[in-house]
Amino acid sequence: MSRLAGKIVLITGASSGIGAACARQFAQSGAHLIITARREEKLTELKKAIQASQPECQIHVSKLDVQDNESVNQMVNDLPDNFKKINILVNNAGLAIEIDTVDKVELDAVDKVLNTNVRGVIYMIRAILPGMRERKNGHVINIGSIAGLEAYPHGGLYCASKYALHALSESMRHELADTPIRVTEIQPGMVETEFSLVRFKGDADRAGNMYKGVQALNGDDVAEAVVFAASRPAHVAVADMLIMPTCQS
Ligand code: NDP
Repeated sequence: MSRLAGKIVLITGASSGIGAACARQFAQSGAHLIITARREEKLTELKKAIQASQPECQIHVSKLDVQDNESVNQMVNDLPDNFKKINILVNNAGLAIEIDTVDKVELDAVDKVLNTNVRGVIYMIRAILPGMRERKNGHVINIGSIAGLEAYPHGGLYCASKYALHALSESMRHELADTPIRVTEIQPGMVETEFSLVRFKGDADRAGNMYKGVQALNGDDVAEAVVFAASRPAHVAVADMLIMPTCQS
């Protein structure tokens, strides 16, 4: 039987890309899901699609903006009883916004990127980790990025957010080493999702050009890494996993 059978997995940003792929793959491994994002209709569609092939998979849908601490706490408080004991938290919600140089960055972009990619993760951890500590059971999986290890021009804001997430993941891993709770950071390279469309503020041509002549990863490639880390035996913690398209240097 799968080690993930019957586990409760909460995924942020499950309405598209890597998050939706994680939801599908955790369901295939026998887990039950709490799927969250701002676009509730996309979550409802995903729930229907998953339950069409995995009717035994229990799925709770929750509209959530991770930038709002009160909403995060309320979502966790309002979980139905059978979803309260979260085993695995996948902090996946995130975005980049293309900027010029750092001195020209717009403060609205600073708020959106840092509040989602960093504060949002902290809010989720504050809301969920205490329960994991109490139950002495849990796994936090943060979706970082190669951008959290290597910065590049015009990426200062996004890179800063993913460097911060890398630091949070490392600190947590050390803090929790004397508990059975595991911390994993998955750091993808280029993945073809809605990410580029958001990054280039809806400019489909620029977004499409990103992937021209490159075989990028897809959401499932990353989800496989997430499910691999989650399904190791309890004494094995995958700390970091850098997963890149073969052609990306
Ligand atoms: P997508 O744009 O396809 O998915 C991003 C998800 O995050 C969406 O489901 C979106 O849902 C959700 N989201 C964004 N803002 C918020 C918010 N404030 N509150 C709740 N949910 C939010 O991109 P990816 O799947 O590629 O991105 C997933 C993660 O992977 C991100 O953390 C990203 O930084 C990381 N990553 C992506 C790479 C890539 O090349 N694509 C490379 C490395 C890392 P909704 O809009 O419905 O809220």
